[in-house]
Amino acid sequence: MSVTPLVSQVDSVKLHEIPPLLGASLAELTAWVQQQGQPAYRGKQLHEWIYQKQVRSLADISVFPKQWRAEATEIPIGRSTIHHRAVAADATVKYLLKLADNQIIETVGIPTDKRLTVCVSTQVGCPMACDFCATGKGGYKRNLKRYEIVDQVLTVQEDFQQRVSNVVFMGMGEPLLNTENVLAALKSLNQDVGIGARSLTVSTVGIRDRIREFAQHNLQITLAVSLHAPNQALRKQLIPSARSYPLEDLLAECREYVEITGRRVTFEYILLAGVNDLPEHALQLAKCLRGFQSHVNLIPYNPIAEVDYKRPNRDRIQAFVQVLKQQQIAVSVRYSRGLEADAACGQLRTSKGNHNS
Ligand code: SAH
Repeated sequence: MSVTPLVSQVDSVKLHEIPPLLGASLAELTAWVQQQGQPAYRGKQLHEWIYQKQVRSLADISVFPKQWRAEATEIPIGRSTIHHRAVAADATVKYLLKLADNQIIETVGIPTDKRLTVCVSTQVGCPMACDFCATGKGGYKRNLKRYEIVDQVLTVQEDFQQRVSNVVFMGMGEPLLNTENVLAALKSLNQDVGIGARSLTVSTVGIRDRIREFAQHNLQITLAVSLHAPNQALRKQLIPSARSYPLEDLLAECREYVEITGRRVTFEYILLAGVNDLPEHALQLAKCLRGFQSHVNLIPYNPIAEVDYKRPNRDRIQAFVQVLKQQQIAVSVRYSRGLEADAACGQLRTSKGNHNS
């Protein structure tokens, strides 16, 4: 068997052009080790050491031949480093992760009784600029790569020393503006990290044609759509992109999603006191969703510095819930966790906030 010297290959390409290995499937890793002149079974070993043992460098893979390990230290696996970590009173942990190009993103680890949910970012920043969301206030830098999304899950898994059970694509960024990497990351989280498709949720504000395209991949994941308003006039005030992609079109595309996938859609609805939380809004919302296989997830507003929206009180929230229930709409309220660490929905930005740990 001929062993291709890895170092000379590394020399011949600029290091930053070597794609990190994280996110690669068993087949991809097997092909890669073979390209490096190694036997195919090393692909399986590499897969196990990357995803199960969570090594950060090929040099640490003790089952690999010494010489290859020494040569392979330059091959990036693609793990980030924890730049900052803040723990909220409810044990939610917010991480600021530093990427290879020094960009910072946010990831949140949310432990509950039996579950460990990770909220991942899909972009550095976000271009959507929704009025009530902190991420949008900071502008947009770039899409995240497959490995940078998968890394967030491994980082939380490693830090909690517990297997991640659920992943929600609800961190910084708009996933459907980065469909290729999001789809690839979903596949890897499912097949390489071992998280069930039904425990993966992608949340979108809605990008024209992308929900239909997403549906065509026929994944068994959950799609959540950030609706936030029961009529076009209000929605376009809150969400700039709604001007060119009206509510009616978005709902029509969501109906197609249900038809194609046979899965119901979750609609997220932020509750802003006096803006969209009145009983008549609930009635309008019920009308929009009548006959639709869906579920409404109400998110009481989490305060951010730049705008002066208010969170409705519990009575107002319950009144909204009651109207929806009377209208036979499946509904739940998501009291966001991690508020004190600025880790709750809509509070993600690349600053440390006021709380250090
Ligand atoms: N861009 C995607 C992913 C973000 S998910 C999307 O819009 O769906 C984060 C969820 O939290 C979205 O529903 C978002 O609208 C909501 N959100 C944003 N700002 C919020 C805030 N200040 N309080 C509560 N929820 C907020």
